[in-house]
Amino acid sequence: MKLKLLTIFYLLRYSLRRLPASREALDVWQERRIGKFVKQMAQRAPFYAAKVAQYGDWRAFPPINKALFMEHFNEINTCGIDREQAMEVAMNAESGRDFSPTLNGITVGLSTGTSGNRGLFLASTKERAQWVAAIFLKVLKPWRWRRQVKVAFFLRANSNLYNAVESKVVQFQFYDLLRPVSALLADLALFQPDVIVAQPSMLLLVAGAVEAKTLRIQPGRIISVAEVLDPETEARLTQIFQQQIHQVYQCTEGFLACTCDEGTLHVNEDFVKIEPHWIDEEKTRFQPIITDFTRTSQPVIRYLLNDVLVARQTPCPCGSPFMALERIEGRMDDVFLLLDRQGRERTVFADFIRRAVVRASEGILEYQVIQTSYSKLLVQVELSAERNLELVNKAIFSSFEQMVKELDISPISLEIVEGIPPLGANKLRRIRRDFTLDNASQNDT
Ligand SMILES: [Zn+2]
Repeated sequence: MKLKLLTIFYLLRYSLRRLPASREALDVWQERRIGKFVKQMAQRAPFYAAKVAQYGDWRAFPPINKALFMEHFNEINTCGIDREQAMEVAMNAESGRDFSPTLNGITVGLSTGTSGNRGLFLASTKERAQWVAAIFLKVLKPWRWRRQVKVAFFLRANSNLYNAVESKVVQFQFYDLLRPVSALLADLALFQPDVIVAQPSMLLLVAGAVEAKTLRIQPGRIISVAEVLDPETEARLTQIFQQQIHQVYQCTEGFLACTCDEGTLHVNEDFVKIEPHWIDEEKTRFQPIITDFTRTSQPVIRYLLNDVLVARQTPCPCGSPFMALERIEGRMDDVFLLLDRQGRERTVFADFIRRAVVRASEGILEYQVIQTSYSKLLVQVELSAERNLELVNKAIFSSFEQMVKELDISPISLEIVEGIPPLGANKLRRIRRDFTLDNASQNDT
């Protein structure tokens, strides 16, 4: 079929091409690519034509966010697709759990917005083939197995994307996150996967069963997707599976980064440029401004994502010139807004909150911290059997007190409860902000 042939074409093309080996050469190469890309898109998308007319150089375009991207859906997409029509097609597909809707031959998808602001995305057959080729070459690397690789894929919905490329090289099995965990684990035991692709919260459940010896599998590669992989989870998974945990960082706006053999996350700079929008004075954390210079059906040019990324300060030993990331920390709208001693708003990044919980007690197996107002946090914990709740509570209180002192902020009150509501098919956000301000300057990007 068409997708399969195109995928093979891009697999060959990507594996044969030669990319610039130095940072300087890569910058020159990217500039040229993006310049050409923007020019072409301006001829096809009125939104970008107007930007070029107003600002000239694409580097001067003000970043757009999701709200703007959706508002101008009709003037941004180059397939002549109308937003209302696309939305209807995508919604109908979702309710019928048929996840392969197309419009004028273009795949239409809905992104999982948590705030009621769901995004619509489009992908042509060519773009899907490019994506599959990139995932194969950068992540699955099927040649390593020298036989058909069995990939267990946990996701919210079955995707015709993968089925289309099933072959003698790769066999996919899908695990619908809406099914009970026990059934998923039983299937996993039968399938005996070489590769497991799942979000960290699911990987932890699989790891737990492996540790308890109720599940016997020997996967050769573990790939974490969709949720933040925090250091504690990574350490636990590494220990149980006895291997490095790999990551894929992607969103509806594109396949953005993945880990190299050293375990470092590198931006896929062969097709995406990320400009950092710094959000702290020390310039360690940033929101990415992305430009994908291969996607043409719905061009993404200087798009501000609301994720918080941490820059890597040292070069990766693998020698890749592609931008390296220390980690993905979460979403911008989960950054806590606490008050300083003068009552002014103060942003506190997830890492501080995570450390406050983790250092309190080794008996905390799982946790979630939810900010419910400027001065109130709800801490939900799951404790190991031998731990005394009262003692752990005390330790959490004093750990947060210490954090308040270190950050020099106003006192906060904690409510600590035992037990965490089941996730279902939702993404795990251990550090979550559940209140917005009335004078909301927050824009949902
Ligand atoms: Zn590397």
